[in-house]
Amino acid sequence: MELPKAINNIPVSKIRDVLSLKEVFSSLLSFLVDKDLISVEVCEHTPMRMSHAYKELVSGYDVDIRQLLSKRFNCTKDTVVITDRIPFYSLCEHHLLPFFGQISIGFITNEETIGLSKLPKLVKAYSQRIQIQENMTEQIGASLYSQLSPQAIAVKCEATHLCVSMRGVKSPMSTTTWFTTGNKKKIRELKRLLH
Ligand SMILES: [Zn+2]
Repeated sequence: MELPKAINNIPVSKIRDVLSLKEVFSSLLSFLVDKDLISVEVCEHTPMRMSHAYKELVSGYDVDIRQLLSKRFNCTKDTVVITDRIPFYSLCEHHLLPFFGQISIGFITNEETIGLSKLPKLVKAYSQRIQIQENMTEQIGASLYSQLSPQAIAVKCEATHLCVSMRGVKSPMSTTTWFTTGNKKKIRELKRLLH
């Protein structure tokens, strides 16, 4: 089965080398705050540290999802697979501030399953991008559904957004999103198990 369209169009990473990034962050710092107000240490070293950090934070764009999910195993039909509370860290596309939390994945097999270590890798590949929570939840579920063709799949994502907690309304709330697809009765079963 083909990967869903949105997932096929993964943008190729446009990250330049860390030295170019360093110049960008250096300019950003001097726009944000007068250089006289920050230490020489910050001026000299923070832009390079930011370059390395941000390069890592968006490294998920470099992961080939199709290849990540390519090794599959035959298994008994109707096997329920649940992986609970995989931690993730991502950057919101509106403010480039972190949002983070946990993702639980459940599916009911048709004929195939996948090495369970691939699930945290899949979460990392989609969360280490510039994201919104709703799309990330959908991309994780839809990519698994397209490659494993399970009878049903449910992905639950609970997240705290720093753009809501530390600025704006400053409300430290948690937001939950779901992606489900497949047989409706089996989706209900999965949602009960992921509750
Ligand atoms: Zn935001």
